Amino acid sequence: MTNNNMYFVANWKMYGNLSSINSIKSVKIFNQSKKLKNIKIIYCPPFTLLRPLVKKLKNSKISVGAQNCHHNSDFGPFTGSVNAKMVKSVGCKYIILGHSENRHNGETDKIINLKIKSALKENLKVIFCIGETLKEKRNRKTRIILRKQIMSGLKNMTKLNNIIIAYEPVWSIGSGKIPKSKELNKAIEYIKSLTIKKNKLKNNKVLYGGSVNPKNIKNLSKIGSIDGFLIGGASQKSKNFIDIIKKTIN
Ligand code: PEP
Repeated sequence: MTNNNMYFVANWKMYGNLSSINSIKSVKIFNQSKKLKNIKIIYCPPFTLLRPLVKKLKNSKISVGAQNCHHNSDFGPFTGSVNAKMVKSVGCKYIILGHSENRHNGETDKIINLKIKSALKENLKVIFCIGETLKEKRNRKTRIILRKQIMSGLKNMTKLNNIIIAYEPVWSIGSGKIPKSKELNKAIEYIKSLTIKKNKLKNNKVLYGGSVNPKNIKNLSKIGSIDGFLIGGASQKSKNFIDIIKKTIN
């Protein structure tokens, strides 16, 4: 891995308030280093913090993304929901879709497909999450699941330039467990082989997500096929987030 053009996506999940965004100041300063010229940092806080964070990060290379959106691309009677148009309108450039915590709450591949289409229509870059559960892994179904999630989630799409895939084994998220390096490399290579077939042009970027922390990043960053990391828990403390980035690029 060259460790150039690496992505570091912070998924804050349902954590954080207005005062939390002040803690990003150190990341903003850190990101000015020439060493990080080709590194892309993206913060995905809850909806309530999107606009304040966009303002806070003005004049920096750090981008902001949402964690989800409603599948309907138009305005409508969907109480409590936010669509891709709204996400775009507050200055976001990215959006996480298909996260397993939402799949777990009933989000289907079909709905994810609609969400991805609506996000692309707004010129948002999509961080599309896929991954198998522990049961599926034990039953040796990982490849079948990854294939199904990619084929259904990206159905009727051939131009995948604005799609970054995040491979997040469900059993790894928040558990402290990570896949074995060889296993992880194989899964990432497999995902790339699938998207190359669909996206005739080129490789899609594939990130890894699941319990990434300052302790395990050194080993993870040795895996050549990984183009970056989607980081949940460890991204909430700027010190940890900076540590992860430093250890990846050094
Ligand atoms: C995530 O929520 O996408 C994630 C990877 O979480 P964690 O890093 O906490 O496992």
